[in-house]
Amino acid sequence: MPHVKDTHRIETRDLDMPPRLLLGPGPSNAHPRVLRALSNRQVGHLDPRFIELMNEVQSLLRYAWQTDNPVTIPVSGTGSAAMEAAVANCVEPGDSMLIGVNGYFGERMVDMAGRYGAVVTRMETPWGTSVDLDTIRRHMEACRPRVLGLVHAETSTGARQPLEGVRALCDEFDCLLLLDTVTSLGGVELFIDDWGVDAAYSGTQKCLSCPPGLGPLTLGPRVLERLEKRSKPVPNWYLDMSLVGKYWGSSRTYHHTAPINMNYGLREALRLVAEEGLEERWKRHRNTAERFWAGLADIGLSCHVRQDIRLSSLTTVRVPDGVDSGAVARTLLNEYNIEIAGGLGQLAGKVWRVGLMGFNSRAENVTLLLAAMEDVLKR
Ligand SMILES: *Cc1c(COP(=O)(O)O)cnc(C)c1O
Repeated sequence: MPHVKDTHRIETRDLDMPPRLLLGPGPSNAHPRVLRALSNRQVGHLDPRFIELMNEVQSLLRYAWQTDNPVTIPVSGTGSAAMEAAVANCVEPGDSMLIGVNGYFGERMVDMAGRYGAVVTRMETPWGTSVDLDTIRRHMEACRPRVLGLVHAETSTGARQPLEGVRALCDEFDCLLLLDTVTSLGGVELFIDDWGVDAAYSGTQKCLSCPPGLGPLTLGPRVLERLEKRSKPVPNWYLDMSLVGKYWGSSRTYHHTAPINMNYGLREALRLVAEEGLEERWKRHRNTAERFWAGLADIGLSCHVRQDIRLSSLTTVRVPDGVDSGAVARTLLNEYNIEIAGGLGQLAGKVWRVGLMGFNSRAENVTLLLAAMEDVLKR
């Protein structure tokens, strides 16, 4: 027998994480009730009680998304896994796909769609703006897409993509509408069925206030129809919804082991959404954000995104001239235990990104953050 080496047998201390207030683009702090639910005792992933829980999670997700889609499930993986599932199940090699690119996550969708063989047309607008209907129509006429991908809540810019009128355009061009709702689900007005969205995905760690680890996904009838007609299977075994759907659907066939305790957490997070009610929850996010925007103006700071398309879940704050945005964020973390983030891409060094999501969307957090920012900026 070989010798057991002790090279990597490091001595470690008991885990003791600092009490951070997570006010960046995600993760946000999990709700205490969600953390409690996560530590519930485990059952098997085909246990009748777990199957009951799977039904509850699916139902509560349909409420949060305002959809009746039967295929509405949490993908095992973070938001990007659900994003990849949406793309992989909607796109067939050679399909024309039109994607709104006005931030980091539109860029990521372009990358994924290309990997699944889509012929991608980028519809670019400056970071912090949204795409208007005329622009979408012009691009659709030129590239005749089979799939249109938009980011409802661009976490890299703080801009909201309006959806009014988009379905009618998609109908005209027989096109699927795929929507990133990672930073809007549970925080910002969202109507999957009324807006005619065919595929949407999200994550648990933004406005749902659950730790990262699951990626909610919903697929409508037009997507299922295309899935059935595909000539070749979805080229990603783990994310093929014709297989995963059987585990979450009525037959409950084993596909992969669901992350049991993460589903406990998500169930609790969604229960909190249902208890509060969507209208109340959206209003709370709006009120908290408006309080923050007003406070920013009081200390001489301004927002990057114009107010009518500004997300209540994520605000991009302009960094004043001569201020080192990274240094401010570091000081907030080190001295106040508050996490905010800097800008990405076109907005690198130009903005801070502040998330007021889910459980964290509360007046007291706004008061604390504004006081801390004012204090740090004064130095
Ligand atoms: C966070 C985020 C994602 C990716 O989710 P992960 O959980 O980080 O994989 C995708 N889209 C948007 C808009 C996001 O904010």
